[in-house]
Amino acid sequence: MSTSTTTGWTDRFGHTMMRTLATPKLMLARGEGCRVWDVDGNEYLDFLAGIAVNSLGHAHPVLVDAVSRQIATLAHVSNYFATPPQLELAERLTRITGAGDAGRVYFCNSGAEANEAAFKLARLNRSGGHRTRVLALNNAFHGRTMGSLALTGKPPMREAFEPLPAGVEHIDTTIEALEAAIDDRVAALFVEPIKGEAGVLDLPDGFLKRARELTEQHGVLLIIDEIQTGVGRTGRWFAYEHAGILPDAVTVAKGIAGGVPIGALVTFGWASELFSQGQHGSTFGGNPLATAAGNAVLGEIERADLVGNAERRGEELRAIIRGYDSPLIGDVRGQGLLVGIGLTEGEAHRLSDAALANGLIINAPNESSIRLAPPLIVGDDELAEFRERFGRALASIPTTGKKS
Ligand code: PLP
Repeated sequence: MSTSTTTGWTDRFGHTMMRTLATPKLMLARGEGCRVWDVDGNEYLDFLAGIAVNSLGHAHPVLVDAVSRQIATLAHVSNYFATPPQLELAERLTRITGAGDAGRVYFCNSGAEANEAAFKLARLNRSGGHRTRVLALNNAFHGRTMGSLALTGKPPMREAFEPLPAGVEHIDTTIEALEAAIDDRVAALFVEPIKGEAGVLDLPDGFLKRARELTEQHGVLLIIDEIQTGVGRTGRWFAYEHAGILPDAVTVAKGIAGGVPIGALVTFGWASELFSQGQHGSTFGGNPLATAAGNAVLGEIERADLVGNAERRGEELRAIIRGYDSPLIGDVRGQGLLVGIGLTEGEAHRLSDAALANGLIINAPNESSIRLAPPLIVGDDELAEFRERFGRALASIPTTGKKS
């Protein structure tokens, strides 16, 4: 692979970008479908989709057309004014979430902001008395702003920024821990239905159903963070559908506008009555450009049945992974097109580097897990190429027989 342009840009990156970011491995120039090209013209199969964001892949004509038309018409007006795309997306979200007529939508610009809004919603839950406690799960990820970081169950991310907003307690992800923690002083329970950043970890069987029963019993808001799992990725519009429940609120972002920044909090039933005028807001939130992008993406997911595609292709992808004769492959986790691969000997970063060298973008959220989140449009050709490229990457990693 050529490094002619690499030398220059890595130095520039190291000088000007905030040290919060490691210097990336590639500088990308363009994309089309499930592929991207770097500045040197090398092609990569993209099985990460900008971390579950590019639902329609890259440069999808439906999204390109919608965004081009909208920016040429009306890009932004502030929240002093309504626009047709904003209302259309709000109505679409209340429909696909199952919130229906009693649902309401607050628009913002990212996942962390959606969870900030949800955290403020939790503070407003005073049903039946004084509620100071908020429950969230160990190892779950909810974002990097102060509020969403307070919800995030990863102490190393939080410690440098303490004190964080008070009242959040992190519990183990077991039905027993939930039963022991919940009471009438809890305002909200936050759940990430598949812990993506932790390595695509599934909830224990029955967890969400029990969470729904207990939250209902104690007047607690059940808030599900579908920022990574939502809008079709798991083979359902939302991951909570697998459990046959509805939450009181859901946060979405990432995949809903295919790469245009957006986030939203959707409330259900009584939770829709909690916020009152002036209690929250955002300059950009719900602007016509981002919401037109959201309508285009969600409209195309619906038209082309990409939710069904995510379910079917997810099964095929899992069969491919289980079919490798490699001692490195352990368990296969997640649902639909959010796939986690447990590695028996660690080496996830080495494996993702080897994949990149073989023209395949995947992700190592930690040293023992690989995460795959390809665009929802993946088909036969992409899966066949994945099989070959990932197979080559796997074969290039020497195995020692040790267990991680
Ligand atoms: N919640 C979950 C489950 C996420 O996966 C993420 C991002 O990875 C976030 C929240 C934060 O979203 P953002 O990076 O858009 O702020």
